[in-house]
Amino acid sequence: MSEILVAAVQGATGDELAALELPASYRAAHVRREDAAMFEGMASSDKDPRASLHVGEVPLPELAPDEAYVAVMASSINFNTVWTSIFEPLSTFGFLDRLARESVWGARHGLDYHVVGSDAAGVVLRVGSAVRSWRPGDKVTVHCNYVDDQDPSAHDDSMLAVNQRIWGFETNFGGLADVAVVKANQLMPKPAHLTWEEAAVNALCNSTAYRMLVSSNGAPVTQGDRVLVWGATGGLGSFAVQYVLNGGGTPVGVVSSAARVALLHELGCEHVLDRTERAYRFWADEHTQDEKEWRRLGQDIRALVGEDPDIVFEHPGRQTMGASVFVCKRGGTVITCAATTGYMIEYDNRHLWMKLKSIKGSHFSNYREAWHANQLVCEGKILPPLAAVYSLEDVGEAALLVHQNRAEGKLGVLCLAPKEGLGIDDHELRERVGEDRLTIFRRHHAAAR
Ligand code: NAP
Repeated sequence: MSEILVAAVQGATGDELAALELPASYRAAHVRREDAAMFEGMASSDKDPRASLHVGEVPLPELAPDEAYVAVMASSINFNTVWTSIFEPLSTFGFLDRLARESVWGARHGLDYHVVGSDAAGVVLRVGSAVRSWRPGDKVTVHCNYVDDQDPSAHDDSMLAVNQRIWGFETNFGGLADVAVVKANQLMPKPAHLTWEEAAVNALCNSTAYRMLVSSNGAPVTQGDRVLVWGATGGLGSFAVQYVLNGGGTPVGVVSSAARVALLHELGCEHVLDRTERAYRFWADEHTQDEKEWRRLGQDIRALVGEDPDIVFEHPGRQTMGASVFVCKRGGTVITCAATTGYMIEYDNRHLWMKLKSIKGSHFSNYREAWHANQLVCEGKILPPLAAVYSLEDVGEAALLVHQNRAEGKLGVLCLAPKEGLGIDDHELRERVGEDRLTIFRRHHAAAR
Protein backbone atom coordinates (compact mmCIF):
# COMPACT_ATOMS: atom_id res chain seq x y z
CA MET A 1 0.00 0.00 0.00
CA SER A 2 2.86 2.40 0.70
CA GLU A 3 3.69 2.72 -3.00
CA ILE A 4 0.08 3.64 -3.72
CA LEU A 5 0.07 6.08 -0.85
CA VAL A 6 3.24 7.86 -1.98
CA ALA A 7 1.98 7.99 -5.56
CA ALA A 8 -1.44 9.33 -4.59
CA VAL A 9 -0.07 11.93 -2.17
CA GLN A 10 2.55 13.09 -4.66
CA GLY A 11 -0.08 13.50 -7.37
CA ALA A 12 1.06 10.68 -9.68
CA THR A 13 -0.48 10.70 -13.16
CA GLY A 14 -3.27 8.31 -13.99
CA ASP A 15 -0.89 6.20 -16.07
CA GLU A 16 1.59 5.98 -13.20
CA LEU A 17 -1.16 4.93 -10.81
CA ALA A 18 -2.56 2.41 -13.29
CA ALA A 19 0.89 0.84 -13.63
CA LEU A 20 1.23 0.17 -9.89
CA GLU A 21 0.69 -3.37 -8.77
CA LEU A 22 -2.36 -3.71 -6.54
CA PRO A 23 -1.89 -5.36 -3.16
CA ALA A 24 -3.48 -8.75 -2.44
CA SER A 25 -4.95 -7.40 0.79
CA TYR A 26 -5.73 -4.06 2.35
CA ARG A 27 -6.43 -2.52 5.77
CA ALA A 28 -10.10 -2.18 6.56
CA ALA A 29 -12.48 -1.54 9.46
CA HIS A 30 -14.87 -4.45 9.69
CA VAL A 31 -17.26 -6.36 11.91
CA ARG A 32 -17.29 -10.16 12.10
CA ARG A 33 -20.22 -12.50 11.58
CA GLU A 34 -19.16 -14.55 14.60
CA ASP A 35 -19.64 -11.46 16.81
CA ALA A 36 -23.25 -10.78 15.76
CA ALA A 37 -24.69 -11.94 19.09
CA MET A 38 -22.00 -10.40 21.31
CA PHE A 39 -24.24 -7.64 22.73
CA GLU A 40 -27.39 -9.71 23.15
CA GLY A 41 -29.40 -8.69 26.21
CA MET A 42 -27.53 -5.41 26.70
CA ALA A 43 -29.13 -1.96 26.63
CA SER A 44 -28.43 -0.21 23.35
CA SER A 45 -26.50 2.56 25.10
CA ASP A 46 -24.10 0.00 26.67
CA LYS A 47 -23.14 -1.60 23.34
CA ASP A 48 -19.60 -0.45 22.57
CA PRO A 49 -18.47 -0.21 18.92
CA ARG A 50 -14.85 -0.47 20.12
CA ALA A 51 -15.50 -4.11 20.98
CA SER A 52 -16.98 -5.05 17.60
CA LEU A 53 -15.12 -2.88 15.06
CA HIS A 54 -11.82 -4.47 14.04
CA VAL A 55 -9.12 -2.95 11.87
CA GLY A 56 -7.04 -5.43 9.92
CA GLU A 57 -6.04 -6.87 6.55
CA VAL A 58 -8.74 -8.32 4.29
CA PRO A 59 -8.31 -9.74 0.75
CA LEU A 60 -8.81 -7.32 -2.15
CA PRO A 61 -11.88 -8.53 -4.08
CA GLU A 62 -11.94 -8.82 -7.86
CA LEU A 63 -13.25 -5.74 -9.71
CA ALA A 64 -16.53 -5.97 -11.66
CA PRO A 65 -16.66 -4.28 -15.11
CA ASP A 66 -18.79 -1.36 -13.84
CA GLU A 67 -16.69 -0.71 -10.72
CA ALA A 68 -13.63 1.23 -9.61
CA TYR A 69 -11.02 0.75 -6.91
CA VAL A 70 -10.56 3.97 -4.96
CA ALA A 71 -7.47 4.63 -2.84
CA VAL A 72 -9.29 6.08 0.17
CA MET A 73 -7.48 9.07 1.63
CA ALA A 74 -10.20 9.77 4.20
CA SER A 75 -13.63 8.58 5.23
CA SER A 76 -16.15 9.49 7.91
CA ILE A 77 -18.34 8.01 10.62
CA ASN A 78 -21.99 7.80 9.77
CA PHE A 79 -24.67 6.60 12.12
CA ASN A 80 -25.12 3.49 9.94
CA THR A 81 -21.64 2.32 11.04
CA VAL A 82 -22.89 2.66 14.61
CA TRP A 83 -25.93 0.51 13.72
CA THR A 84 -23.71 -2.11 12.05
CA SER A 85 -21.26 -2.20 14.94
CA ILE A 86 -23.93 -2.67 17.62
CA PHE A 87 -25.86 -5.12 15.40
CA GLU A 88 -29.06 -3.05 15.66
CA PRO A 89 -31.83 -3.22 14.66
CA LEU A 90 -30.39 -6.35 13.04
CA SER A 91 -27.08 -7.74 11.89
CA THR A 92 -26.01 -6.41 8.48
CA PHE A 93 -24.78 -9.88 7.45
CA GLY A 94 -28.37 -10.59 6.34
CA PHE A 95 -28.06 -7.75 3.78
CA LEU A 96 -24.76 -9.16 2.49
CA ASP A 97 -26.19 -12.67 2.16
CA ARG A 98 -29.17 -11.37 0.17
CA LEU A 99 -26.88 -9.43 -2.19
CA ALA A 100 -24.69 -12.53 -2.55
CA ARG A 101 -27.66 -14.53 -3.86
CA GLU A 102 -28.44 -12.00 -6.62
CA SER A 103 -25.55 -12.40 -9.08
CA VAL A 104 -22.06 -13.69 -9.66
CA TRP A 105 -20.57 -10.32 -8.75
CA GLY A 106 -22.96 -9.99 -5.81
CA ALA A 107 -21.62 -13.27 -4.44
CA ARG A 108 -18.32 -11.53 -3.55
CA HIS A 109 -20.16 -9.66 -0.76
CA GLY A 110 -21.33 -12.69 1.20
CA LEU A 111 -18.37 -12.96 3.55
CA ASP A 112 -17.85 -13.54 7.26
CA TYR A 113 -16.57 -9.99 7.65
CA HIS A 114 -18.28 -6.74 6.68
CA VAL A 115 -16.06 -3.81 5.63
CA VAL A 116 -18.10 -0.79 6.74
CA GLY A 117 -18.21 2.89 5.86
CA SER A 118 -20.48 4.87 3.53
CA ASP A 119 -18.34 7.93 2.75
CA ALA A 120 -14.94 8.30 1.10
CA ALA A 121 -12.67 10.81 -0.59
CA GLY A 122 -9.70 9.56 -2.54
CA VAL A 123 -8.08 8.78 -5.87
CA VAL A 124 -9.32 6.33 -8.51
CA LEU A 125 -6.76 3.51 -8.82
CA ARG A 126 -8.33 1.27 -11.48
CA VAL A 127 -11.58 1.16 -13.40
CA GLY A 128 -13.46 -1.85 -14.76
CA SER A 129 -13.75 -2.44 -18.51
CA ALA A 130 -17.26 -0.91 -18.73
CA VAL A 131 -16.37 2.37 -16.99
CA ARG A 132 -16.33 5.36 -19.35
CA SER A 133 -16.43 8.57 -17.31
CA TRP A 134 -13.64 8.04 -14.77
CA ARG A 135 -9.92 7.24 -15.03
CA PRO A 136 -7.10 6.32 -12.67
CA GLY A 137 -5.84 9.49 -11.03
CA ASP A 138 -9.25 11.20 -10.76
CA LYS A 139 -9.80 12.77 -7.36
CA VAL A 140 -13.24 11.78 -6.14
CA THR A 141 -15.78 11.62 -3.39
CA VAL A 142 -18.14 8.68 -3.20
CA HIS A 143 -21.89 8.70 -2.59
CA CYS A 144 -23.51 5.62 -1.12
CA ASN A 145 -26.51 4.91 -3.38
CA TYR A 146 -25.78 1.43 -4.77
CA VAL A 147 -28.18 0.44 -7.55
CA ASP A 148 -28.34 -2.16 -10.27
CA ASP A 149 -28.84 -0.07 -13.42
CA GLN A 150 -30.12 -3.09 -15.39
CA ASP A 151 -33.22 -3.16 -13.19
CA PRO A 152 -36.06 -1.13 -14.80
CA SER A 153 -37.28 0.01 -11.40
CA ALA A 154 -33.92 1.77 -10.90
CA HIS A 155 -34.72 4.35 -13.56
CA ASP A 156 -36.65 7.61 -13.10
CA ASP A 157 -35.72 7.86 -9.40
CA SER A 158 -33.15 5.25 -8.44
CA MET A 159 -34.12 5.52 -4.76
CA LEU A 160 -37.33 3.75 -5.80
CA ALA A 161 -35.38 0.76 -7.16
CA VAL A 162 -36.47 -2.48 -5.55
CA ASN A 163 -32.85 -3.50 -5.07
CA GLN A 164 -31.53 -0.09 -3.92
CA ARG A 165 -28.85 -0.45 -1.24
CA ILE A 166 -26.57 1.72 0.86
CA TRP A 167 -22.92 1.02 0.06
CA GLY A 168 -20.84 0.05 3.11
CA PHE A 169 -23.99 -0.77 5.10
CA GLU A 170 -26.03 -3.09 2.89
CA THR A 171 -22.98 -3.97 0.76
CA ASN A 172 -19.44 -5.00 1.61
CA PHE A 173 -16.14 -3.23 0.73
CA GLY A 174 -17.08 0.16 2.24
CA GLY A 175 -15.12 3.36 2.75
CA LEU A 176 -13.52 2.95 6.19
CA ALA A 177 -10.52 1.26 4.59
CA ASP A 178 -7.42 1.98 2.52
CA VAL A 179 -9.19 0.79 -0.65
CA ALA A 180 -12.89 0.95 -1.51
CA VAL A 181 -14.74 -0.95 -4.21
CA VAL A 182 -17.52 1.21 -5.68
CA LYS A 183 -19.75 1.32 -8.71
CA ALA A 184 -18.66 3.98 -11.21
CA ASN A 185 -22.05 5.67 -10.77
CA GLN A 186 -21.17 6.41 -7.14
CA LEU A 187 -18.27 8.67 -8.09
CA MET A 188 -18.33 12.47 -7.93
CA PRO A 189 -15.58 15.09 -8.23
CA LYS A 190 -13.70 15.94 -5.05
CA PRO A 191 -14.21 19.58 -3.98
CA ALA A 192 -10.85 21.10 -4.92
CA HIS A 193 -10.67 23.62 -2.07
CA LEU A 194 -11.07 21.01 0.66
CA THR A 195 -8.64 18.73 2.45
CA TRP A 196 -9.18 14.99 2.12
CA GLU A 197 -10.83 14.81 5.53
CA GLU A 198 -13.10 17.79 4.83
CA ALA A 199 -14.10 16.28 1.49
CA ALA A 200 -14.85 12.88 3.03
CA VAL A 201 -17.54 13.91 5.51
CA ASN A 202 -20.22 15.25 3.19
CA ALA A 203 -21.69 12.86 0.68
CA LEU A 204 -24.00 10.78 2.83
CA CYS A 205 -25.53 13.41 5.10
CA ASN A 206 -25.34 16.26 2.58
CA SER A 207 -27.16 14.30 -0.14
CA THR A 208 -29.79 13.09 2.34
CA ALA A 209 -30.52 16.62 3.57
CA TYR A 210 -30.54 17.90 -0.05
CA ARG A 211 -33.24 15.40 -1.08
CA MET A 212 -35.29 16.23 2.03
CA LEU A 213 -35.17 20.02 1.76
CA VAL A 214 -34.17 20.97 -1.81
CA SER A 215 -35.27 18.25 -4.23
CA SER A 216 -38.83 18.02 -5.50
CA ASN A 217 -38.70 14.44 -4.20
CA GLY A 218 -38.65 15.83 -0.65
CA ALA A 219 -40.27 18.86 0.99
CA PRO A 220 -38.45 21.68 -0.79
CA VAL A 221 -38.01 24.88 1.19
CA THR A 222 -39.41 28.02 -0.41
CA GLN A 223 -38.42 31.54 0.54
CA GLY A 224 -39.84 32.54 3.91
CA ASP A 225 -40.55 29.00 5.10
CA ARG A 226 -39.94 28.30 8.77
CA VAL A 227 -38.24 24.94 9.22
CA LEU A 228 -37.83 23.13 12.52
CA VAL A 229 -34.56 21.15 12.45
CA TRP A 230 -34.04 18.52 15.14
CA GLY A 231 -30.42 17.71 15.98
CA ALA A 232 -29.40 20.87 14.17
CA THR A 233 -25.65 20.51 14.83
CA GLY A 234 -25.61 16.76 14.04
CA GLY A 235 -24.57 15.11 10.80
CA LEU A 236 -27.88 15.64 9.01
CA GLY A 237 -28.93 18.76 10.88
CA SER A 238 -25.76 20.69 10.10
CA PHE A 239 -26.50 20.36 6.37
CA ALA A 240 -30.25 20.94 6.84
CA VAL A 241 -29.63 24.29 8.55
CA GLN A 242 -27.37 25.39 5.68
CA TYR A 243 -29.96 24.40 3.05
CA VAL A 244 -32.73 26.31 4.83
CA LEU A 245 -30.54 29.41 5.06
CA ASN A 246 -29.39 29.11 1.42
CA GLY A 247 -33.01 28.69 0.27
CA GLY A 248 -34.25 31.86 1.96
CA GLY A 249 -36.01 30.03 4.79
CA THR A 250 -35.75 30.50 8.54
CA PRO A 251 -34.36 27.53 10.43
CA VAL A 252 -35.33 26.91 14.03
CA GLY A 253 -32.64 24.58 15.31
CA VAL A 254 -33.11 22.26 18.28
CA VAL A 255 -29.98 21.14 20.13
CA SER A 256 -29.07 19.88 23.60
CA SER A 257 -26.44 22.24 24.96
CA ALA A 258 -25.47 25.89 25.18
CA ALA A 259 -22.28 25.08 23.27
CA ARG A 260 -24.36 23.77 20.36
CA VAL A 261 -26.53 26.91 20.49
CA ALA A 262 -23.36 29.00 20.08
CA LEU A 263 -22.21 26.85 17.15
CA LEU A 264 -25.53 27.37 15.35
CA HIS A 265 -25.38 31.10 15.89
CA GLU A 266 -21.96 31.19 14.24
CA LEU A 267 -23.33 29.12 11.35
CA GLY A 268 -25.98 31.82 10.83
CA CYS A 269 -28.95 30.12 12.50
CA GLU A 270 -30.42 32.83 14.71
CA HIS A 271 -33.31 30.89 16.27
CA VAL A 272 -32.30 27.97 18.45
CA LEU A 273 -33.99 25.98 21.19
CA ASP A 274 -31.83 24.20 23.75
CA ARG A 275 -33.96 21.15 24.55
CA THR A 276 -31.95 20.50 27.73
CA GLU A 277 -32.52 23.99 29.03
CA ARG A 278 -36.22 23.88 27.98
CA ALA A 279 -36.52 20.40 29.60
CA TYR A 280 -39.21 19.13 27.24
CA ARG A 281 -40.81 15.87 28.41
CA PHE A 282 -42.83 14.74 25.43
CA TRP A 283 -43.30 11.32 27.04
CA ALA A 284 -44.83 11.35 30.53
CA ASP A 285 -43.83 7.70 30.82
CA GLU A 286 -42.76 4.95 28.41
CA HIS A 287 -46.29 4.62 27.01
CA THR A 288 -47.88 8.06 27.33
CA GLN A 289 -47.14 11.28 25.54
CA ASP A 290 -47.91 14.65 27.06
CA GLU A 291 -49.74 17.06 24.77
CA LYS A 292 -49.00 19.95 27.13
CA GLU A 293 -45.30 19.50 26.35
CA TRP A 294 -45.96 19.45 22.59
CA ARG A 295 -47.87 22.70 23.08
CA ARG A 296 -44.99 24.22 25.05
CA LEU A 297 -42.60 23.44 22.17
CA GLY A 298 -45.09 24.99 19.72
CA GLN A 299 -45.31 28.15 21.85
CA ASP A 300 -41.53 28.38 22.03
CA ILE A 301 -41.30 28.18 18.23
CA ARG A 302 -43.98 30.84 17.77
CA ALA A 303 -42.20 33.08 20.28
CA LEU A 304 -39.05 32.83 18.17
CA VAL A 305 -40.38 33.10 14.61
CA GLY A 306 -44.02 34.14 14.94
CA GLU A 307 -45.55 31.09 13.24
CA ASP A 308 -45.68 27.32 13.22
CA PRO A 309 -43.05 25.57 11.07
CA ASP A 310 -43.99 24.89 7.43
CA ILE A 311 -41.58 21.94 7.47
CA VAL A 312 -40.26 19.76 10.26
CA PHE A 313 -36.95 18.00 9.56
CA GLU A 314 -37.41 14.74 11.51
CA HIS A 315 -34.98 11.96 12.34
CA PRO A 316 -34.91 11.33 16.13
CA GLY A 317 -38.13 9.29 15.69
CA ARG A 318 -40.07 7.93 18.65
CA GLN A 319 -39.00 10.59 21.17
CA THR A 320 -39.98 13.55 18.96
CA MET A 321 -42.45 12.45 16.27
CA GLY A 322 -45.59 13.17 18.31
CA ALA A 323 -44.31 16.68 18.96
CA SER A 324 -43.22 17.13 15.33
CA VAL A 325 -46.67 16.29 13.97
CA PHE A 326 -48.32 18.56 16.55
CA VAL A 327 -46.17 21.67 16.00
CA CYS A 328 -46.10 21.44 12.20
CA LYS A 329 -48.15 24.18 10.52
CA ARG A 330 -51.63 23.50 9.09
CA GLY A 331 -50.94 22.06 5.64
CA GLY A 332 -47.24 21.63 6.44
CA THR A 333 -44.95 18.63 6.04
CA VAL A 334 -43.00 16.50 8.47
CA ILE A 335 -40.20 14.99 6.42
CA THR A 336 -38.49 12.03 8.06
CA CYS A 337 -35.53 9.83 7.18
CA ALA A 338 -34.73 8.03 10.41
CA ALA A 339 -35.68 6.98 13.91
CA THR A 340 -32.59 7.11 16.11
CA THR A 341 -34.61 6.90 19.34
CA GLY A 342 -37.02 4.20 18.16
CA TYR A 343 -38.91 3.34 15.00
CA MET A 344 -42.29 2.40 16.48
CA ILE A 345 -43.80 5.85 16.17
CA GLU A 346 -46.87 7.34 17.90
CA TYR A 347 -48.59 10.60 17.09
CA ASP A 348 -52.11 11.97 17.42
CA ASN A 349 -53.67 11.44 14.02
CA ARG A 350 -56.37 14.06 14.67
CA HIS A 351 -53.73 16.78 14.43
CA LEU A 352 -52.54 15.33 11.15
CA TRP A 353 -55.81 14.94 9.27
CA MET A 354 -57.82 17.89 10.61
CA LYS A 355 -54.98 20.29 9.91
CA LEU A 356 -54.16 18.69 6.57
CA LYS A 357 -50.54 17.95 7.41
CA SER A 358 -48.36 15.36 5.66
CA ILE A 359 -45.68 12.99 6.82
CA LYS A 360 -43.24 12.15 4.06
CA GLY A 361 -40.58 9.46 4.12
CA SER A 362 -37.19 10.11 2.55
CA HIS A 363 -34.05 8.05 2.18
CA PHE A 364 -30.58 9.06 0.96
CA SER A 365 -30.70 10.46 -2.62
CA ASN A 366 -30.43 9.47 -6.24
CA TYR A 367 -27.22 10.13 -8.23
CA ARG A 368 -28.53 13.40 -9.69
CA GLU A 369 -29.42 14.75 -6.25
CA ALA A 370 -26.10 13.60 -4.75
CA TRP A 371 -24.27 15.22 -7.68
CA HIS A 372 -26.08 18.57 -7.21
CA ALA A 373 -25.45 18.46 -3.47
CA ASN A 374 -21.75 17.73 -4.10
CA GLN A 375 -21.60 20.58 -6.61
CA LEU A 376 -22.76 23.00 -3.92
CA VAL A 377 -19.88 21.82 -1.73
CA CYS A 378 -17.51 22.22 -4.71
CA GLU A 379 -18.69 25.83 -5.12
CA GLY A 380 -18.20 26.61 -1.43
CA LYS A 381 -21.95 27.15 -0.90
CA ILE A 382 -22.26 24.27 1.55
CA LEU A 383 -19.62 23.97 4.28
CA PRO A 384 -18.23 20.61 5.40
CA PRO A 385 -19.18 20.23 9.09
CA LEU A 386 -15.93 18.46 10.01
CA ALA A 387 -15.66 18.51 13.81
CA ALA A 388 -12.70 16.21 14.54
CA VAL A 389 -10.38 13.75 12.83
CA TYR A 390 -9.50 10.19 13.89
CA SER A 391 -7.08 7.62 12.55
CA LEU A 392 -8.53 4.45 11.03
CA GLU A 393 -7.10 2.51 13.99
CA ASP A 394 -9.32 4.61 16.28
CA VAL A 395 -12.51 4.08 14.29
CA GLY A 396 -14.23 2.39 17.26
CA GLU A 397 -13.55 5.39 19.47
CA ALA A 398 -15.05 7.71 16.85
CA ALA A 399 -18.12 5.49 16.38
CA LEU A 400 -18.63 5.43 20.16
CA LEU A 401 -18.65 9.23 20.27
CA VAL A 402 -21.38 9.34 17.61
CA HIS A 403 -23.33 6.55 19.34
CA GLN A 404 -23.28 8.55 22.57
CA ASN A 405 -24.27 11.85 20.93
CA ARG A 406 -20.98 13.43 22.00
CA ALA A 407 -19.95 14.75 18.58
CA GLU A 408 -21.11 17.79 16.67
CA GLY A 409 -21.20 17.74 12.87
CA LYS A 410 -19.17 14.93 11.32
CA LEU A 411 -16.11 12.98 12.42
CA GLY A 412 -13.50 12.43 9.71
CA VAL A 413 -11.27 9.35 9.58
CA LEU A 414 -7.81 9.35 7.98
CA CYS A 415 -7.24 6.21 5.92
CA LEU A 416 -4.29 6.52 3.48
CA ALA A 417 -3.77 10.23 4.13
CA PRO A 418 -0.70 10.34 6.43
CA LYS A 419 -1.79 13.54 8.16
CA GLU A 420 -4.48 16.19 8.19
CA GLY A 421 -4.49 19.18 5.86
CA LEU A 422 -3.51 17.46 2.61
CA GLY A 423 -5.40 17.44 -0.68
CA ILE A 424 -6.19 21.14 -1.24
CA ASP A 425 -5.86 22.05 -4.93
CA ASP A 426 -7.83 25.32 -5.15
CA HIS A 427 -6.32 27.66 -2.56
CA GLU A 428 -7.98 30.71 -4.07
CA LEU A 429 -11.51 29.31 -3.59
CA ARG A 430 -10.55 28.20 -0.08
CA GLU A 431 -9.54 31.74 0.75
CA ARG A 432 -12.81 33.09 -0.68
CA VAL A 433 -14.89 30.64 1.37
CA GLY A 434 -12.79 31.53 4.42
CA GLU A 435 -10.78 29.41 6.84
CA ASP A 436 -12.99 30.70 9.67
CA ARG A 437 -16.16 29.34 8.04
CA LEU A 438 -14.49 26.04 7.16
CA THR A 439 -13.44 25.45 10.75
CA ILE A 440 -16.63 26.42 12.63
CA PHE A 441 -17.41 22.85 13.70
CA ARG A 442 -13.80 22.04 14.61
CA ARG A 443 -13.47 25.06 16.85
CA HIS A 444 -16.77 24.51 18.65
CA HIS A 445 -16.27 20.75 19.01
CA ALA A 446 -12.82 21.34 20.54
CA ALA A 447 -14.15 24.07 22.85
CA ALA A 448 -17.00 21.85 24.06
CA ARG A 449 -14.60 19.11 25.16
P1 NAP B 1 -25.90 12.49 14.55
O1 NAP B 1 -24.79 13.24 13.92
O2 NAP B 1 -25.62 11.63 15.71
O3 NAP B 1 -26.99 13.58 14.94
C1 NAP B 1 -28.20 13.21 15.52
C2 NAP B 1 -28.74 14.37 16.35
O4 NAP B 1 -29.99 13.94 16.89
C3 NAP B 1 -27.87 14.72 17.53
O5 NAP B 1 -27.00 15.78 17.18
C4 NAP B 1 -28.87 15.10 18.62
O6 NAP B 1 -28.90 16.51 18.74
C5 NAP B 1 -30.22 14.67 18.08
N1 NAP B 1 -30.90 13.81 19.05
C6 NAP B 1 -30.44 12.67 19.63
N2 NAP B 1 -31.35 12.19 20.50
C7 NAP B 1 -32.40 13.03 20.47
C8 NAP B 1 -33.65 13.10 21.16
N3 NAP B 1 -34.00 12.19 22.08
N4 NAP B 1 -34.47 14.13 20.88
C9 NAP B 1 -34.13 15.07 19.98
N5 NAP B 1 -32.96 15.08 19.31
C10 NAP B 1 -32.12 14.07 19.55
O7 NAP B 1 -26.64 11.58 13.49
P2 NAP B 1 -27.03 11.92 11.96
O8 NAP B 1 -25.92 11.58 11.08
O9 NAP B 1 -27.62 13.29 11.91
O10 NAP B 1 -28.15 10.82 11.75
C11 NAP B 1 -29.36 10.88 12.48
C12 NAP B 1 -30.20 9.65 12.14
O11 NAP B 1 -30.51 9.65 10.75
C13 NAP B 1 -29.52 8.31 12.40
O12 NAP B 1 -30.47 7.41 12.90
C14 NAP B 1 -29.05 7.86 11.02
O13 NAP B 1 -28.93 6.47 10.93
C15 NAP B 1 -30.14 8.42 10.15
N6 NAP B 1 -29.77 8.73 8.77
C16 NAP B 1 -30.60 8.30 7.76
C17 NAP B 1 -30.29 8.60 6.46
C18 NAP B 1 -31.15 8.11 5.34
O14 NAP B 1 -30.77 8.21 4.19
N7 NAP B 1 -32.31 7.55 5.59
C19 NAP B 1 -29.15 9.35 6.15
C20 NAP B 1 -28.36 9.82 7.20
C21 NAP B 1 -28.68 9.50 8.51
P3 NAP B 1 -29.04 17.27 20.16
O15 NAP B 1 -28.70 16.29 21.25
O16 NAP B 1 -28.07 18.40 20.06
O17 NAP B 1 -30.46 17.73 20.22
